[in-house]
Amino acid sequence: MIKKIGVLTSGGDAPGMNAAVSAVIRYASSNKIEVFVIKDGYKGLINDWIEQADINYAQNIIALGGTAIGSARLPEFADIKVREKAVANLKKHAIEALVVIGGDGSYMGAQRLTEMGINCVGLPGTIDNDIVSSDYTIGFDTALNTIVQAIDKIRDTMQSHNRAAVIEVMGNQCGDLALYASIATGADVISTSESKLTEQEIVDQVTAIAKTGKRSVVVVVSEKMYPDVHALAEKVEASSGYVTRATVLGHIQRGGSPSAMDRHLAVTSAMFAVDQIIAGKGGLYIGLDGTKLVARDINSTLNMPRKDKTEETNKIRFLNAQFLK
Ligand code: ADP
Repeated sequence: MIKKIGVLTSGGDAPGMNAAVSAVIRYASSNKIEVFVIKDGYKGLINDWIEQADINYAQNIIALGGTAIGSARLPEFADIKVREKAVANLKKHAIEALVVIGGDGSYMGAQRLTEMGINCVGLPGTIDNDIVSSDYTIGFDTALNTIVQAIDKIRDTMQSHNRAAVIEVMGNQCGDLALYASIATGADVISTSESKLTEQEIVDQVTAIAKTGKRSVVVVVSEKMYPDVHALAEKVEASSGYVTRATVLGHIQRGGSPSAMDRHLAVTSAMFAVDQIIAGKGGLYIGLDGTKLVARDINSTLNMPRKDKTEETNKIRFLNAQFLK
């Protein structure tokens, strides 16, 4: 029977990571397993920033945004010599297995550690929803709600002043934040990573909307798709006649207290991860398949193709942009 495990958060932070850490500590403790927290992800592993978890601490972090135990990026972790240091530190504390909360990159590290004798189980912690083998990730719902609130507010002022807005949202090559936010707000023009419009197509669509006399226009675009959204707004203004402003929502999307749904996913998937570790398994990653939690091989999940969302996006475009009819 396993006696000591560790938990760490790695890669980009996401609301709900604390709820997951909390549940790992509480659930493992209730199964008579000692839990250690590793500060700042893999960086803490190689620097021995490892501390015994405190149950009171675990109970107090459920509602906090960000990750209280810290996260960091450490590209050197791909080097076996660096990972050997991590394994040595874990052995020093007699830690036999790890729960790794993060994204695809973090799972690569978790897989490598498993191959070196430390069973690792990954939890999907990212706002971007870009882990192909999980329908939803911890942090997505909170970030989505932040974005929807921001777009609603921008729409208020655009509608008051007869203007257009170009709003850039996060997603890291995944269009889900842009698509779901567009569904929730009725955004007029949508351009996502999976279903991209050219700058000219955006300009043309807003110009067509202007001709119908619509009072405000909201354009939602995913990040990293256009060189400069402010320049894009200028082009939209020049063609459509709307005074047009660009807003890059930025890091506000990453913070805040996790939503109830993110906490639910965090807590249930954390318990499921600890169950896998108790069963002696490693090299796994927990995902949501519909409403069911599943444990899949990390190696198999890294090569799963992304779902094609073009048809769904086009349907929403048709719903939201009545001018297209
Ligand atoms: P995310 O987990 O959010 O996808 P990153 O891609 O930045 O974030 O990965 C987080 C960390 O995982 C990296 O900084 C690195 O320490 C580790 N990692 C990424 N790729 C590998 C790899 N091929 N081998 C070992 N560790 C890796």
